[in-house]
Amino acid sequence: MATEKALALVLRTTDWSETSRIATLWTLGLANVRGLGKRGRRLRSNFDSALDLLTLCSIVFLRKSSGSLDQLTEAQVVQRFPRLSTDLPALYAAYYVAELLSDWTEDYDPHPSLFDEALETLRALGTAGVATGPRLARFELVLLQELGYSPVLEACAVCGKPDGIPGAGPSLAFSAAAGGVLCAACQPRQRDRRPLSLAAWQALRALGESGEAWRREWGPAVRAELRQVLGQYVTYLLGRRPRLLPYLGS
Ligand SMILES: [Zn+2]
Repeated sequence: MATEKALALVLRTTDWSETSRIATLWTLGLANVRGLGKRGRRLRSNFDSALDLLTLCSIVFLRKSSGSLDQLTEAQVVQRFPRLSTDLPALYAAYYVAELLSDWTEDYDPHPSLFDEALETLRALGTAGVATGPRLARFELVLLQELGYSPVLEACAVCGKPDGIPGAGPSLAFSAAAGGVLCAACQPRQRDRRPLSLAAWQALRALGESGEAWRREWGPAVRAELRQVLGQYVTYLLGRRPRLLPYLGS
């Protein structure tokens, strides 16, 4: 059994016994590691506090055979995100990030750029002047892109025709099942379609393409629509509604 080292974000923790805790960690280069760590019997050890939810830590662990938990032997805090605990919408958004990463990334399947995006999101959330909704939307769009589910926005997601988008104007629609926008001709056949405003269509494109677009001032109506469209799409892809989704602001 070889010892491995990794930079890891704590996505979930469960007390296993009085002296040990199970942590689901998402690592740079290895994706999810589920590990069992022993902790101090009486005092809360450094190891223990490094395994707090949403802490970035450096870990050393022994990889176990498939199906069993990896053994965590060391954990040290690298970074905490203290602003999250002072801002409830930001905290819910951060829990949502952890939920999506925990449930949606395969064990040992690395996504380095998604790891960076997750950390940037956690650093930005709760900062004065940062709107939670657009920042979270940017994270969701990067996640979808990494997993191969980027919404189709430049042409009809069903027939592939580029005409009518965005010229379709008021009749533009989005379908989670189709995986993107729909031209006027294809809309009647997609039962789950919902109207998509031109402003929301533009916001989805901008947030997907640029790592800075979330800093712009997006109006409340667009933010609310983005939240609904992305929430519906993520729910469809996951096959269930994320637990934190109802708590998210826009
Ligand atoms: Zn079409």
